[in-house]
Amino acid sequence: MDRPLARREALRHLAVLSAAAVVPGFLLGCSKKASCEDVTGLAPADVAIRTQTAAYVEAAADVSKKCALCVQYVPAAPNACGSCKVVKGPINPEGGCKLFVPKPA
Ligand code: SF4
Repeated sequence: MDRPLARREALRHLAVLSAAAVVPGFLLGCSKKASCEDVTGLAPADVAIRTQTAAYVEAAADVSKKCALCVQYVPAAPNACGSCKVVKGPINPEGGCKLFVPKPA
């Protein structure tokens, strides 16, 4: 007799647990900064240019010379990696490299 009720109760608990599993991932996505270090798919020569010639880093040592302020930077959506006209691979707007050229004022 109380089987339908038990099943309904179980489904309600399942819905609550599912919602609980989704919320932390959603909150994490909001607070997470973009990591732009994945160079999967780049040719070894492009990785060498990125890491050695340009010496790209995820966080510019001098914030006045960060990628977001560079003429070569191509922005993407907020909190997403952009790209660069000369350094291949994902580019962090807070990153930097030796090839920095300031945007015209
Ligand atoms: S040239 Fe260097 S500093 Fe400028 S956007 Fe590209 S990676 Fe960033």
